[in-house]
Amino acid sequence: MKYWQPMHELAICQALIDQVLAVSKTEHASSVTDVYVSIGALSGVEFQLMRNAFPIVATDTLASEATLHLQQMPVRVRCEDCGAETEVSANHLICGRCGDWRTQLISGDELLLQRVVLQTNPAGGGSQCVKPAAAI
Ligand SMILES: [Zn+2]
Repeated sequence: MKYWQPMHELAICQALIDQVLAVSKTEHASSVTDVYVSIGALSGVEFQLMRNAFPIVATDTLASEATLHLQQMPVRVRCEDCGAETEVSANHLICGRCGDWRTQLISGDELLLQRVVLQTNPAGGGSQCVKPAAAI
């Protein structure tokens, strides 16, 4: 589990934009219109800071006009006692079935680049959706 420092969002957005630009280069895109990112509730990443940081790192790139879409991912744990996998709240990591606190985190601290929408035709004709689903 990682806890980011404040304004680490800028570094995250830099890593994000690097991936987005790599995808758009592979697909020979002329611009990026939308970027979809999933953020685990335990990642410690602030949505608002991400929204603030994204335009800064996107300036003068193919993604300068792109819209950043952020989605929160639920926290899921696996119980070491009963084996159930349940969705839990971020500050209450106990088994949703039996209430045991000995649980393993399955998901909830990740950052994922889910989808990138690219403009592949400068005239505005073609857009393309790429799904790298890669960790940032
Ligand atoms: Zn349990």
